[in-house]
Amino acid sequence: MKGTKIYSIFTSTCPVCHRGEMYVNSNAYNISETLDMHERCSHCNTKYKIEPSFFYGAMYVSYGVGIAVATAAFILAYWAAHFSLFASFMTLVAVLVVLLPLIARVSRNIWINMFLSYDSTKAKASKND
Ligand SMILES: [Zn+2]
Repeated sequence: MKGTKIYSIFTSTCPVCHRGEMYVNSNAYNISETLDMHERCSHCNTKYKIEPSFFYGAMYVSYGVGIAVATAAFILAYWAAHFSLFASFMTLVAVLVVLLPLIARVSRNIWINMFLSYDSTKAKASKND
């Protein structure tokens, strides 16, 4: 999986080298640090915040991700678990709230991966291999 955008998106690693961690705290549920990112990649020195307010665009992505998660939660609750309409809706809301930190991070990861791509030479050029 290393070398694919999916890898960077789900492991929160640098979109260019897939080695450096993008977030200060690897646990998204440490709420005060959910969106705290390193300035640059510790491995390839890529600047994550490409331009001022770069990650505001991730809000558009999170809207799409949120809809996808909500739809999946509703379908599972209503058709698979046979909850009532009201219970299915409450399940949808609960799932969105619980997954909020993860959705926020995955959205940022998708967003930055739309602008930066994997570079195998930067991934290999290593100071600690
Ligand atoms: Zn990197």
